[in-house]
Amino acid sequence: MAKNILICDDAAFMRMMIKDILTKNGYTVAGEAENGAKAVEKYGELSPDLVLMDITMPEMDGIEALKKIRANDPKATIIMCSAMGQQAMVIEAIQSGAKDFIVKPFQADRVLEAVKKQIG
Ligand SMILES: [Mg+2]
Repeated sequence: MAKNILICDDAAFMRMMIKDILTKNGYTVAGEAENGAKAVEKYGELSPDLVLMDITMPEMDGIEALKKIRANDPKATIIMCSAMGQQAMVIEAIQSGAKDFIVKPFQADRVLEAVKKQIG
């Protein structure tokens, strides 16, 4: 069965790029969220197998969304999408239960490798 993924990023082009990489490789994109609050809401609605979570987003950032999702579902599998220079936030995310991180600009291979490692 295809694995369902929730993509969270405030940049529409980034969501589109990630969606393209995933769908071309047999994954299903269950939904998209443009901020952390929407990510928490959509996670509850969709129960995806995996979340790709941007760190810097308006309204609620990816770290807070990660913490809220993990509080609701301790088994949630979340990979952080960080920009260069966000090491401190990546460390906080990993300590808060993020399973992995990928650094922008993305290489398709690196995205797929990280996703595959978590959900096959
Ligand atoms: Mg962002």
